[in-house]
Amino acid sequence: MLAPRPRVGVLALQGAFREHRARLEALGAEVTEVRLPGDLAGLSGLVLPGGESTTMARLMGEFGLWAPLRDFHAAGGHLWGTCAGAILLAREVQGAPPQFGHQDSLALLNVTVQRNAFGRQIDSFTTDLQVQGLDAPLPAVFIRAPAFARVGEGVTVLATHQGQVVAAQQGRVLATAFHPELTGDLRLHELFLNSLRRLETA
Ligand code: GLN
Repeated sequence: MLAPRPRVGVLALQGAFREHRARLEALGAEVTEVRLPGDLAGLSGLVLPGGESTTMARLMGEFGLWAPLRDFHAAGGHLWGTCAGAILLAREVQGAPPQFGHQDSLALLNVTVQRNAFGRQIDSFTTDLQVQGLDAPLPAVFIRAPAFARVGEGVTVLATHQGQVVAAQQGRVLATAFHPELTGDLRLHELFLNSLRRLETA
């Protein structure tokens, strides 16, 4: 039997967390906004939204979230990063601002992510994307989106666009370069919640 209400968090430091929250609640999830390590208690999944990965990474340091997020994953939690959130999950980040030199990331997904792989804000676009696991194309909004330039061992490619990998999965970690929370198509959110339901009833 499926658990009625999966408990899922949305990292709410910056970016499009409200949109994710609304989508997940529309699908019946119980949603917690995560800002501090204690907010992760009792959750089976966490969405890392789009926004600005450098800002989010800095705030994650200030709020003491780096180790708790890695622990959350190690303890069996599922993670889904969209756009900037996907950058935070990658093992290696390319294209950090020069003043940063190196951009910290959670390194839970064995990929090298290239920031702003499709150009600047003005080059933002929407396209219909064929995503593995979905039977019909998904409308996908790309806003200064990254791409996974190197996909390492253990990672499954779920979607490509213009020859670039834009959705990937490794175990309990899902990453999409685009913004599924900005369209009315809830299928990816549903897919994520279904993986949590399986976890909660296991
Ligand atoms: N370009 C942004 C970054 O590198 C991501 C953009 C987004 O999340 N829409 O953090």
